[in-house]
Amino acid sequence: MRLVLLGPPGAGKGTQAARLVERHGVQQLSTGDILRAAVAAKTPIGLKAKEIMDAGALVPDAVVIGLIDERLDSPDCAKGFILDGFPRTVAQAEALQQLLDRRGLSLDAVLELAVDEGALVERMRKRVEETVAAGGAVRADDNPESFKTRLEAYRAQTAPVSAHYAGRSQLTKIDGMAPIDEVSAAIDRALVGAAVVRG
Ligand code: ADP
Repeated sequence: MRLVLLGPPGAGKGTQAARLVERHGVQQLSTGDILRAAVAAKTPIGLKAKEIMDAGALVPDAVVIGLIDERLDSPDCAKGFILDGFPRTVAQAEALQQLLDRRGLSLDAVLELAVDEGALVERMRKRVEETVAAGGAVRADDNPESFKTRLEAYRAQTAPVSAHYAGRSQLTKIDGMAPIDEVSAAIDRALVGAAVVRG
């Protein structure tokens, strides 16, 4: 199974990707998680990406494309992968196509979690509250100002990625406003419909 999960920050991509990993034994490839690990480990990429990420802007295409290129060959991706947070620009979508072509692979589905923008800020606020209550570390970009920049980056650079896949009849929209279990069920139905998994 090779999937792309699209949707604005706070749409629930990470939550749904984790569930797909559990149910189907595929690997989640989240460029956000990979970049945050690089920042924490203070690798050269992490050192360069930190400020950009904290501000809520996008890391250069070449950097994230390189990260995905490396990861696609790891054995944990042999059964497939769920891309979460990548591609985030049309240039990344085109590069992904080339990375897959080179390996003789193709995407089974591109799922977009559609969420009202008004709900996203509230979801971010709740996530911060829950993280603090659980004694965890709040993401440096989970503050109102960076979140606004992330939404703007989404509108300007990532929304065209949905149009890119829709134009290729590869896009399936899922109502991301429904409760988590219902979103998961809708994703399952979409995967059965696309013959990615058997019903
Ligand atoms: P979000 O909750 O905003 O979807 P992510 O964890 O996916 O958060 O990404 C966090 C940050 O990491 C982004 O704001 C951006 O700076 C960087 N990032 C992640 N994926 C990409 C990508 N594909 N291209 C460019 N920057 C990325």
